[in-house]
Amino acid sequence: MSRVEIRDLSKRYGSVVALNKVSLSLADGEFFGLLGPSGSGKTTLLRSIAGFVEPEAGQILIDGADVSRISTHRRDLGMVFQHYALFPHMSVFDNVAFPLSVRRNGKTEIKKRVEEMLELVQLGGYGQRRPRQLSGGQQQRVALARALVSNPRVLLLDEPLGALDKNLRQQMQVELRQIQREVGITTVFVTHDQEEALTLSDRIAIFREGVVEQAGEPGEVYERPRTPFAAAFLGATNFIPGRVAGRNGSAGTVVLGDGQRLHTLDPLPAEGTAVTVTVRPEKFTLHVGSRPPLDEDGAANCLAAEIVQPIYMGASITYRVKAGEIELTLFHQNRESRIEPPGSRAWLSWAPKHSILLDAPVSKPSG
Ligand code: ADP
Ligand code: MG
Repeated sequence: MSRVEIRDLSKRYGSVVALNKVSLSLADGEFFGLLGPSGSGKTTLLRSIAGFVEPEAGQILIDGADVSRISTHRRDLGMVFQHYALFPHMSVFDNVAFPLSVRRNGKTEIKKRVEEMLELVQLGGYGQRRPRQLSGGQQQRVALARALVSNPRVLLLDEPLGALDKNLRQQMQVELRQIQREVGITTVFVTHDQEEALTLSDRIAIFREGVVEQAGEPGEVYERPRTPFAAAFLGATNFIPGRVAGRNGSAGTVVLGDGQRLHTLDPLPAEGTAVTVTVRPEKFTLHVGSRPPLDEDGAANCLAAEIVQPIYMGASITYRVKAGEIELTLFHQNRESRIEPPGSRAWLSWAPKHSILLDAPVSKPSG
């Protein structure tokens, strides 16, 4: 169990900046997700921590000691990658025992430890099988057992579930997190799957072109994204362009292109400034037929809209609606078993706290 600190880490490949002054701090026992699109630098960071990539600048500290210049095997890490690199000609037992045999531990000690690890990943009794006699999920559990057998300080996982199909992947996510909690090992987990990152991680960092765009607890980054990229990467969202138009009680007001207004609790720049507000599709309440009453202080949000397209999803219905000049998406829980047809007059209401002001305008508002 260990703390990991990444300080101003930079790495180039020719003209490509794979990492640009990345700084992150992991607490002891934390499960930390690195999330971002393909090519954003996640693997480069993981391989730098592992010692396979030599960064040009910056430091990697484990428990306060700089390991940037020491060799991989002396960093005391466990690793699992997407494509399980088990030795095909060796039994499951020998695969898991491998890191210990290299260290010349005693035979009885090795046997005890390997069996413990196989129990941990629920493969007790599978020791004599060959990797090809196991399913993909089981092979990844063997890889995990091998990564943990020498009791490393930090576990590095690079899309370890990436090759598994969806059901197995979800089951393995739960197991992986249970095992990690049981062992209590500080873990860096790379994925490009936002749902996987949100459900598994204590904290996440969103990567974009070698830079950490935003880091924090899943709920914090999802509910309060700072940039359009972070907002869009963590799930569906709406971008609403407008201009700052003063205050209304405790809320700030933004006027949209068609003159409708919305309210936010976020601090706003000077009146007249172009801004972009984001609202997640599940925050809207849909009203059809008549306009809902506003809250007493008039600060609740309510936009008049027209339904453009309902998309039936079973448990929910996704509506594409048009509000003035902008198209919005909303998710509606399918309680009534009813689909509102295109062309229906509708109102969207939501609480001002769900109007999140973004750092950078998405596009120039036309209003
Ligand atoms: P991710 O894991 O987020 O998909 P990577 O860390 O693998 O991203 O890659 C970051 C960038 O560095 C990409 O543009 C990639 O093409 C480049 N890159 C990674 N490894 C190498 C390499 N060995 N040689 C040249 N370019 C590389
Ligand atoms: Mg990668």
